[in-house]
Amino acid sequence: MSTVNGCSLASQIFTTTSAHSRVAIRPVSTARLNSSASTPPILIRNEPVFAAPAPIIHPLLVLSLPIENGELGPVAAAKIDEITATLSTADGSAAISSESVERLKTGFITFKREKYEKNPALYGELAKGQSPTYMVFACSDSRVCPSHVLDLQPGEAFVVRNVANLVPPFDKTKYSGIGAAVEYAVLHLKVKEIVVIGHSACGGIKGVMSFPYDGSSSTDFIEDWVKIALPAKNKVLSECGDTPFGDQCATCEKEAVNVSLGNLLSYPFVREGLVKKTLALKGGHYDFIKGTFELWGLEFSLSPSLSV
Ligand SMILES: [Zn+2]
Repeated sequence: MSTVNGCSLASQIFTTTSAHSRVAIRPVSTARLNSSASTPPILIRNEPVFAAPAPIIHPLLVLSLPIENGELGPVAAAKIDEITATLSTADGSAAISSESVERLKTGFITFKREKYEKNPALYGELAKGQSPTYMVFACSDSRVCPSHVLDLQPGEAFVVRNVANLVPPFDKTKYSGIGAAVEYAVLHLKVKEIVVIGHSACGGIKGVMSFPYDGSSSTDFIEDWVKIALPAKNKVLSECGDTPFGDQCATCEKEAVNVSLGNLLSYPFVREGLVKKTLALKGGHYDFIKGTFELWGLEFSLSPSLSV
């Protein structure tokens, strides 16, 4: 059995699930509340803080339209013309004609024509419900969509994407969005695998490797979020701190995945699924520069309880 250790990680992980990494369970972090302030935070005072502008919502696209032979039918085309005319602005330009909206429109038309209408059995089943095999954590990076990279079809994966594909420790006060997703996937969808996928040239990982964490802060959210990967950064610095920064980041991309796998063990329903063997955890790394994908498994052991 291989043990994943810092700099040697890359040479020990493969394109199969046979390698294993032992991940230590870290204590669950807790949020610290400052109760000493005599003045309540401004956002909970009984007075208006600011007046946000009322949102103005325009319907830009209505694309539940019939598509015949790859072309919009005359009725549908007329409907789009009507919407376009309605949305024409004072200067004569039409919002719907913007390049970005056109891209979304043609994208949906292509999807509907090439996939939705050609797979009525699949989409008919999905209309009734979902039963995905995987829960996938992937980075928000626009280059690493897991459905695209792994050819996952609709209904196969319950996906969470965030900066640096991080899973925080179980914490009801800070990370309820992630907690809700894991809880739903494990307890209700009953996924069989949770896969955390890192990737090459990850900006979030470069961030955690770069931020000084000396009390100064230059971002509203990013530094605090990627702090989840600090144990990976510390391991990389202690084991290969003398290597070029780019190499450190590449190693941290994989170590951060292992930190996330370890954090998943802090979720009681994840632990229960592992013990009952209804759930497995996997780590992955997609390198879009080399065009490779690595996958590794997580092995964990439970200490027998002591009785005196
Ligand atoms: Zn990333």
